[in-house]
Amino acid sequence: MRPANFDYHRPGTVEEAVQLLANNGGAKALAGGHSLLPAMNLRLSTPDAIVDIGQIGALRGISAANGMLTIGALTTHALIAASAEVRQHCPALAQACGQVGDPQVRNWGTLGGNIAHADPASDPPTVVLACGGTIHTHGTGGKRAINAGDFFVDLLMTDLQPGELITHISIPSQVGKKSAYAKMSHPASRYAVVGVCVVLTMDGATCSSASVAVGGAVPKAVRSPGAEAALTGSALDAAALDHAAQALMNDIGGEVMGDVFAPEAYRQAMAGVYLKKAVHAALSS
Ligand SMILES: Cc1cc2nc3c(=O)[nH]c(=O)nc-3n(C[C@H](O)[C@H](O)[C@H](O)COP(=O)(O)OP(=O)(O)OC[C@H]3O[C@@H](n4cnc5c(N)ncnc54)[C@H](O)[C@@H]3O)c2cc1C
Repeated sequence: MRPANFDYHRPGTVEEAVQLLANNGGAKALAGGHSLLPAMNLRLSTPDAIVDIGQIGALRGISAANGMLTIGALTTHALIAASAEVRQHCPALAQACGQVGDPQVRNWGTLGGNIAHADPASDPPTVVLACGGTIHTHGTGGKRAINAGDFFVDLLMTDLQPGELITHISIPSQVGKKSAYAKMSHPASRYAVVGVCVVLTMDGATCSSASVAVGGAVPKAVRSPGAEAALTGSALDAAALDHAAQALMNDIGGEVMGDVFAPEAYRQAMAGVYLKKAVHAALSS
């Protein structure tokens, strides 16, 4: 199918883009186009105007300073996966972005677009949530910094207000922690059937704190307080991992989604399996 007619704008600055979005009530920002354009082609999305943000240089780039990793919204998955700064300060995000789709998707899809779209099967939201990331936005009402835990509201729903643009994502440096993202990919699209991110602080052989987030199986990426409690204070031995896996499955119990490829019970069980894989990967990192 072809998209419905729309006006096309190509601003050069964030301020210009925000104004264009505000002036055109039915407008949508266009980043990598890998979610928006398929939706427009199927006429699931029929924006009156497209505000192509691809030329706004201020939205690109990766930097690390003062214990904070900052990634511009327009930065592609491929650049994030290859970045020395991301590998050092948030290795789980490099792992997640390196597993997004295929090379074409990774070369076009952007972190900001991915997070704004909030597809439950996306990889980066799970990592940004587990790592305590913040989503920074700019709208006509000013700038906001939104914790990832507040940003993801429901399936394909975020706290973004109409006309608001994500400018960048900041993540506290994970240096000194053990972290990993483990994903079961759909064999055709590579989207996450289940994805689990763990961040562990180790005190010798004991885990002194844990952050666990899961995506893919549930409408939005969520933390698992049960799994975090089960891992914390443990030696991360087989019994602790069994306990944590069961706690994660319990935490997401009422929310798990299913389809013909992966029914609910299977996804729920895989969430526990991929939690264990993520812990093992983190410990061997
Ligand atoms: C075949 C295929 C396989 C994929 N596999 C995976 C996968 O395995 N894992 C995964 O995580 N993702 C996957 N994706 C999604 C992909 O990673 C993109 O990140 C995603 O499509 C959105 O990013 P984009 O830059 O293309 O955004 P766009 O498609 O341009 O935009 C998506 C939405 O976000 C809005 N938007 C874009 N940028 C901003 C911004 N800065 N501020 C506010 N709103 C904004 C747009 O208005 C639109 O509503 C896949 C996509 C395809 C087509």
